[in-house]
Amino acid sequence: MPLATMGEIIGPARAAGRGIGAFNVIGIEHAEAIVTGAETAGAPVVLQISENCVAWHGALEPIARACLAVGRAAAVPVAVHLDHASGAELVRIASALGLGSVMYDASGLRYDENVRATAEVTAWCHDRGVWVEAELGEIGGKDGVHSPVARTDPDQAAGFVASTGVDALAVAVGSSHAMLTRDAVLDLGLVTRLRRAVGVPLVLHGSSGVPDQALAAAVGAGLTKINIATQLNKVFTAAVRKYLSAEPAVVDPRRYGSAGRDAIAPEVARLLGVLGACGAGRAGGRDR
Ligand SMILES: [Zn+2]
Repeated sequence: MPLATMGEIIGPARAAGRGIGAFNVIGIEHAEAIVTGAETAGAPVVLQISENCVAWHGALEPIARACLAVGRAAAVPVAVHLDHASGAELVRIASALGLGSVMYDASGLRYDENVRATAEVTAWCHDRGVWVEAELGEIGGKDGVHSPVARTDPDQAAGFVASTGVDALAVAVGSSHAMLTRDAVLDLGLVTRLRRAVGVPLVLHGSSGVPDQALAAAVGAGLTKINIATQLNKVFTAAVRKYLSAEPAVVDPRRYGSAGRDAIAPEVARLLGVLGACGAGRAGGRDR
């Protein structure tokens, strides 16, 4: 089916209290497996490409075109999203390639500078029909806004959304990027307050460190877009490592690559079930 826009996927999900799984792609195998998992679950899904992934490939275009093609061939709605762009130039490249949504992350800047830079990028994107997620990093610390101790203030979040016009907001509520253990404790009371204060969908980053039950509770409290990267990499790498340990003579990357790809798909389907994403279809209109 044609690619979905982020608004088509996330608007109805927020209204219905469902979560949307947004999974980070590394190579084309990730994209294929994530879509297979979403098809198994009967759920829409977001393929997202981070700035770090772009740096690893050396350019956005090859991996973006692969994701767009995989998404177009899917039996469920798929949106392709640029994750954590720190510069406006990468946002412009993503738009030119046909990505319908971006995360612009100026959270490293002072609040007023974050507002100014984010508002400028958002206006540019909205002129081109591109959906924008931003991040509010009012609390510093060496781990930035996603430090487990960082918290987004609801009043400041409401002001940030009003001042910038963004379509979704990544919030700090207790999770942290790249966690290998799943024991983060989310501040669900704060999620509820943010949901009441902010009129756009809320995004959880660092969700791989959050146990299943807490992810489901976070969606129930008002988070909609749930970004998951590390968890799939853990599953992929464990399967490849197990395969290569058992078959040390194998040299064909398709053999161990299949082991990794085949391990990701059921994990995606399982996580989409945890998020309540199943059955959340495409909306009729282009709801930003
Ligand atoms: Zn993130």
